[in-house]
Amino acid sequence: MHLFKTRTDLQDYLARCRDNRLSIGLVPTMGALHTGHLTLITAAGAECDIVVCSIFVNPTQFNDPADLENYPRTPEADLDRLRSVSCHAVFMPDAGELYQPGETWYLDLGGLDERLEGKFRPGHFQGVTQIVHKLFTLVQPDKAWFGQKDFQQFRVVVAMATRLELSVELRMHPIVREPSGLAMSSRNARLSATGKQQALVLFRVLNLAAAQFGAGRPAAVNANALAVLAAAPGVEPEYFELCDPETLLPVAEDAKTAVALVAAWVEGVRLIDNMILR
Ligand code: AMP
Repeated sequence: MHLFKTRTDLQDYLARCRDNRLSIGLVPTMGALHTGHLTLITAAGAECDIVVCSIFVNPTQFNDPADLENYPRTPEADLDRLRSVSCHAVFMPDAGELYQPGETWYLDLGGLDERLEGKFRPGHFQGVTQIVHKLFTLVQPDKAWFGQKDFQQFRVVVAMATRLELSVELRMHPIVREPSGLAMSSRNARLSATGKQQALVLFRVLNLAAAQFGAGRPAAVNANALAVLAAAPGVEPEYFELCDPETLLPVAEDAKTAVALVAAWVEGVRLIDNMILR
């Protein structure tokens, strides 16, 4: 496995791969890797000759400086984990390697970036598209993998690729969960055992919504879920919404499919989860 810290070293390596007609898959991450990340790498390895994993805690997607500061960073453990899977190259740049001082970015996402996560984390998806666009330009992957865990992020990246006519094929990998049902997340490392127990209510309300979907009106399903979340000890809900899986607008009353999206705080840690309902 190769470790690159600079764009030029990574680009030289990838140019050689391309000369040899090898296909390139990219898995962008912010590190503190867990099994969820590793399954994306394995999925990429099943379809591409060369798998590149980027590890970069991207400052422009954090609207809260404390969140950026507290974000877990475990570079040595990450490299060990990546050595255990089909990862060929790791790109671990410093911020100065990717950003020019005073650089700005704006991409019109038709409002997709202002709903749900965007409402509670203003500017988050502009930062996400900024870094993902940089990584796509640098790596020029044939395919790139993202997790359903960040469902809205995937829709935003698809919207960017459509708007900018990017040729990369985008893949979404299902959510990997702990045996308890808790969606794996780097942020879970900041939860105590009690917090992890309390956080299980997110998965419970998603299952509740799945059972009620089609029988109750979407607004009633949302209200039930929010009431359960609000009553759960140690949990502060931000939103629970049944949405159209393509547009992420509130789902129509007679819709056959929806995605239920939830965000809540537990022990000062912001958690998100979702489930596709049919
Ligand atoms: P992050 O490091 O949190 O930015 O995540 C990097 C990529 O891994 C994103 O595309 C995430 O959606 C994905 N990911 C994170 N957690 C999970 C999970 N539990 N299951 C599947 N994919 C995940």
